Amino acid sequence: MIIVMQPDADDAAIAAVEAKIRLHGLDVHVSRGTERTLIGAVGDERKLDPEMFDPMPGVEKSMHIVKPYKLVAREWHKANTIIDVGGAAFGGKTVQVIAGPCSVETPPQMDAAAAGVKAGGARLMRGGAFKPRTSPYAFQGKGVDGLKLLKDAAGRHGLPVVTELMDVRMLDTFVDHGVDIIQIGTRNMQNFDLLKAVGQVQIPVILKRGMSATIAEWLMAAEYIAAGGNHNIIFCERGIRTFETAYRNVLDVTAIPVLKRETHLPVIVDPSHAGGKAWMVPALSLAAVAAGADGLLIEIHPKPNEAWCDADQALTPAEFANLMGQLRAVARALGRDL
Ligand code: PEP
Ligand code: MN
Repeated sequence: MIIVMQPDADDAAIAAVEAKIRLHGLDVHVSRGTERTLIGAVGDERKLDPEMFDPMPGVEKSMHIVKPYKLVAREWHKANTIIDVGGAAFGGKTVQVIAGPCSVETPPQMDAAAAGVKAGGARLMRGGAFKPRTSPYAFQGKGVDGLKLLKDAAGRHGLPVVTELMDVRMLDTFVDHGVDIIQIGTRNMQNFDLLKAVGQVQIPVILKRGMSATIAEWLMAAEYIAAGGNHNIIFCERGIRTFETAYRNVLDVTAIPVLKRETHLPVIVDPSHAGGKAWMVPALSLAAVAAGADGLLIEIHPKPNEAWCDADQALTPAEFANLMGQLRAVARALGRDL
């Protein structure tokens, strides 16, 4: 970190900044120029924050030199991290597709959905058992029974499962039920207690982007999980909130190459919650793969118009199978498989 002093900063102000840096266990390097003095903090500057120095007498501004995230940064880990989930690798040559309904509803719905996921060629199944709904009166998910239904239906087709964890108190239940990937939803991206909790297990985590989160905030949320010891993190761009109201969210395609540059971890895209309409899903999925996404999370339902949640954005199994063919062509054009 560098602290830039004001031109008229006196020796006492400079000494006070030096003392504060040393108090946090870092060394000091002072550079006295003709007009102003720069004070460098040498050591692990992540312990320091500009707000520690900016209010001090004589300080003009202070700034970090290195990125605030470390474990997730490509700066420190050049090679792509590959995360294996029951034989499906994320972050490698293959574009991994996860598909399934928004929410777990009934055994017949889950059986038909699982068959559709498998027939379309996806390798993992999604399904929400605990649903974060805007209204407390809306269907909240089947809870633990939903976890069982999801595991049973997916298991019959050899598909690992992805499902959302909303409450720290359910983590042990997720572990006991053999959840293969824990999803942290957009509304919980900065639920730091939840992030710390999933950092304590080794189950891979899909970390969705907060609907108004910057890339830096998202990376720091992942850093929370990694700092706990779980480095199996998959970023999922799912659209951000903007001034536009013609669709549910704006799929931030730009985030894909930016994130791939910033982090060694896999990056996938959820086109369903981005567009919010089934007819937008193919275009957004194709754009995501073309932009370098390592995978997709797509909502499908055997009878979309009867879905209990997000009916407007679910593809039918037939539409999904058709899309998979198109995606394969794009993936191959990029030298990847799907
Ligand atoms: C979901 O995937 O079911 C979901 C609720 O997504 P998001 O957190 O992106 O809204
Ligand atoms: Mn949904």
